[in-house]
Amino acid sequence: SSSIFAAVEMAPRDPILGLNEAFNADTRATKVNLGVGVYFTDEGKIPLLGAVKAAEKTRIEAAPARGYQPIEGAAAYNNAVAALLFGKDSALLANGQTITIEALGGTGALKVGADYLKRLLPNATVYISDPSWENHRALFESAGFPVSNYAYYDAATRGVNFEGMLADLRQMPAQSIVVLHACCHNPTGADITAAQWEQVVAVIRERNLIGFLDMAYQGFADGIKEDAVALDLFAASGLQFLVSSSFSKSFSLYGERVGALTIVASSKEEAGRVMSQVKRVVRTNYSNPPTHGGAVVAAVLSSPELRQQWEDELAGMRLRIREMRKSLVEKLAARGVAQDFSFVIKQRGMFSYTGLTVEQVEKLKTDFGVYAVGTGRICVAALNTKNIDYVADAITAVLK
Ligand code: PLP
Repeated sequence: SSSIFAAVEMAPRDPILGLNEAFNADTRATKVNLGVGVYFTDEGKIPLLGAVKAAEKTRIEAAPARGYQPIEGAAAYNNAVAALLFGKDSALLANGQTITIEALGGTGALKVGADYLKRLLPNATVYISDPSWENHRALFESAGFPVSNYAYYDAATRGVNFEGMLADLRQMPAQSIVVLHACCHNPTGADITAAQWEQVVAVIRERNLIGFLDMAYQGFADGIKEDAVALDLFAASGLQFLVSSSFSKSFSLYGERVGALTIVASSKEEAGRVMSQVKRVVRTNYSNPPTHGGAVVAAVLSSPELRQQWEDELAGMRLRIREMRKSLVEKLAARGVAQDFSFVIKQRGMFSYTGLTVEQVEKLKTDFGVYAVGTGRICVAALNTKNIDYVADAITAVLK
């Protein structure tokens, strides 16, 4: 008899993970992987932060038993995350209007949020930026939503087509869900200003839309507090909204899957009812989150010394990326590249949309072993003082 899997089709490869496989198979010693969304040190390594190492040492020495966590995760973690997002003196927190649950990375937070919203608003449409993080569409579609784009990136200015974005927001049906990158837009590196966020919040209110803020890079643009400007404006608006947050990058804890879903309700009593429903989503999915990553993040955030150490280390990552942006622009200019690349300095976060074409990206790979995403996105956090000259040479060559 034939296998029940006999007719199963091969799914398309994940484009970015596929790029990694090609990179790993490349035997050239000079190869450089600028495709991934990971921060590397100047030595080309994923860092284990000192603050994380210290908190882990304490935790391992205490040898805690590994009982189940509550469905929503540890209260110490959830409270620390909410304080990081909104500030510890936030009125929302004092009022008990927010709920936070520990989630499996930013992805897990988006997924729990999406599944919960599907129960709450079964007929809603989800809108994501054009372009967006490549998993947004698939994730909300797999939760059962139709997903459309709103205008975002403007290739001509290499910035945000803000008028287009506002116009699209104004066309959305009431109770549509709008996924917004809170800072360090992935993949473009182009963010809107605080004044523009105010206008976005105003339209979201007028049109009765639901904001879902994705915060995956807090601290990578200007600082922890500075990068939360969108959250501050939503918090002050009196609107209900959702936030997914991730510590994959800011704590360099990628594989530990540490993130959180925060939902802002209109009152404490309402928040309690929302929490009871979100817990049902979690319970029927993975039951409760793992212990280690969240315990480490909570320990770092709640110890004044470790928190300072973490903030310094995060600033170090932020500043190194900025140096690489500046250096790349200078090196391209020094090689006689006519095109103005100064926009790379203005882009924020780990990525740069370089404007390189699909053909140029292909040539970078085949001729030089420099791997970038087909859209021209490079991970600036994968550049370092040892590979940047080679990368600048390669980009110069493909531009000629
Ligand atoms: N959201 C955005 C915009 C991202 O760039 C990423 C990671 O690349 C995520 C969410 C997912 O984060 P995590 O790896 O914590 O699931």
